[in-house]
Amino acid sequence: MSDIAMKSRAVLSCRNLGKRYEEGPQSVVVLSGLELELHPGERVAIVGSSGSGKSTLLNLLGGLDTPSEGSVWLAGEELSALSEKERGLLRNRALGFVYQFHHLLPEFTALENVCMPLLIARVAIPEARRRAAALLERVGLGHRLRHKPAELSGGERQRVAIARALANQPGLVLLDEPTGNLDQHTAHGIQELMLELSTSLQTAFLVVTHDPQLARQMNRVLRLEDGRLVAE
Ligand code: ADP
Ligand code: MG
Repeated sequence: MSDIAMKSRAVLSCRNLGKRYEEGPQSVVVLSGLELELHPGERVAIVGSSGSGKSTLLNLLGGLDTPSEGSVWLAGEELSALSEKERGLLRNRALGFVYQFHHLLPEFTALENVCMPLLIARVAIPEARRRAAALLERVGLGHRLRHKPAELSGGERQRVAIARALANQPGLVLLDEPTGNLDQHTAHGIQELMLELSTSLQTAFLVVTHDPQLARQMNRVLRLEDGRLVAE
């Protein structure tokens, strides 16, 4: 298969990805010559010590930050070839994000938070509410639709965040230490849910984690070391 055909089949790929931060006269190289290719439905864990650049990498892959060198293709589109607006639309359609801290909108209910990406995608309000309710049901929160984030437990908030990430049925979800802030029992429940959803929805998951138990359940484990990914 040609290089181009491979890239369009991958849900995500990057070539020679590099990132450095300019700190006054100093320049800090965080990522350099990094390569990654993720296939539809594939589940990959990224591990690495604190400060090794894992969050930086996810932000580049999700188009939230710009690389110093190299390219990222998301759903067959090269991110740097798109305008800011086009990148936003592609992110909304093709990608979900889950963070360590839920990043839900505090003034809105669980249902409204999950509706948000659907409304951005111009789904009509009644249909958005129907789909969001079905997703919350699916993550075990059918009885919490009208609760605001402050009225939910840590595990419940992460379930809402996962439902929100899946709202537009993206091909890929990026998760940055999604269970890092939860007790072991709750973390385990969230892990089971992620595995079940990625299998049944055929969604690729790229998860940064410190949890060896979660990492073991992925198809591949990659370690971020000296700015590159190496197989564990
Ligand atoms: P990790 O998620 O693996 O803990 P990060 O990606 O957050 O690591 O950070 C990697 C390195 O880049 C760290 O040394 C951090 O201090 C540095 N860094 C991250 N963001 C910035 C920034 N906006 N400006 C300057 N340096 C940064
Ligand atoms: Mg981080």
